[in-house]
Amino acid sequence: MQNHFIIEMLGIKDKHVDVWDMTSEPDKFYVELYTKVKTQKCPFCKEKTKRVHSYRNQQIQGPIVSNKPVKISLRKRRYLCVNCRHTFYEKLQMVDRYQRCTSSVQTTALTYTGVGSFTTAAQLTGMSSNRLLRIFDRRDIKTKKVLPRAIAIDEFKGDAGGERFQTVIADIEHKEIIDVLPDRKVDTIKRYLKSCDTSNVEIVVMDLSRSFKQAVQKALGDPLIIADRFHFMRQVYWALDSVRREVQHDLEKNERIRMKRSKKLLWKSQYKLTDEQKEKVNQLLQIHPRLKEAYELKNKLDQWFKESDKITATQGFEECLSAMKASNIEAFHKVMKTFKRWRQEILQSFMYPFNNGYIEGVNNTIKVAKRMSYGIKDFKRLKKKILWRQEVRRALA
Ligand SMILES: [Zn+2]
Repeated sequence: MQNHFIIEMLGIKDKHVDVWDMTSEPDKFYVELYTKVKTQKCPFCKEKTKRVHSYRNQQIQGPIVSNKPVKISLRKRRYLCVNCRHTFYEKLQMVDRYQRCTSSVQTTALTYTGVGSFTTAAQLTGMSSNRLLRIFDRRDIKTKKVLPRAIAIDEFKGDAGGERFQTVIADIEHKEIIDVLPDRKVDTIKRYLKSCDTSNVEIVVMDLSRSFKQAVQKALGDPLIIADRFHFMRQVYWALDSVRREVQHDLEKNERIRMKRSKKLLWKSQYKLTDEQKEKVNQLLQIHPRLKEAYELKNKLDQWFKESDKITATQGFEECLSAMKASNIEAFHKVMKTFKRWRQEILQSFMYPFNNGYIEGVNNTIKVAKRMSYGIKDFKRLKKKILWRQEVRRALA
């Protein structure tokens, strides 16, 4: 192989590093590198010197090439400063002084970490997971402290740092995660918001969480709070589902299984059902009048949700509330109470166009990041992994 090709393959940018020898062994490539003499600036007195003092061989891990790891032996020079008599190692870009792999392998491993798990990234680059974690932990990812006009606050179950839930702050209009907080407590969120410049914040989208609302009102005064559409509609599906489960409980085995498998079918918007599915739904609804009642309430809410605009939303909302109130189903009474409590925030969601698409996008980002970070118990690492994924994806986009 040509020397310059090897240098390129190893991602080495130092002009004075060259190949002494390269051998292909059954389980690895072995590359010996040396450096040419180059004038050095003494790190102690800044004088220039070319006087070589001694050599040292440093063993470095290179990339994986054709499924074989590249082991590098680098003969490094130690220089002597003729002015102050200090000795020092030459400076090289290809490897940090205390590292055992080349900078380009580190970069590759970190990039893989942005799209996959630590374990996979380590395997692909032939690095041990522990070493990769050490490199990752040393990196610092800056978060913005000036918050944008529209933010979303959402929780997710990250199970890190001894807290089940973590909170994500996202920029709605720029579709990015701004920060990740260690828990979902009022104080934590309030303290976070107070630590930022929030003078631009006008709109906050959140789920129906009292602690989010409290924190926002305490820290930001009176921004426009919008209930996240997915979060409030989810309550309706859950209410329907609780009735389905209750009915299912008393069924014979075969019917019970059929009912259990129909969860998603019952959730589906009525107008999206095929004829065959409609028939199936009808059969299910005949099993119990309560299920039929719950299903009809769900449809009413679903229709209101999907077909209302800022003019018709309020009227439809009142109708939905009355329908839920008139029903005999406790689960829907609860939904009604929640909806009443969040009336203003829910209705706001029809007035402003940011909601579904983006919030869902952020939720998916978090979901994927969460899946990739599964088992990361350390909160700082979890947070960094989520933000790092975003950075890598942006760079690759
Ligand atoms: Zn010196």
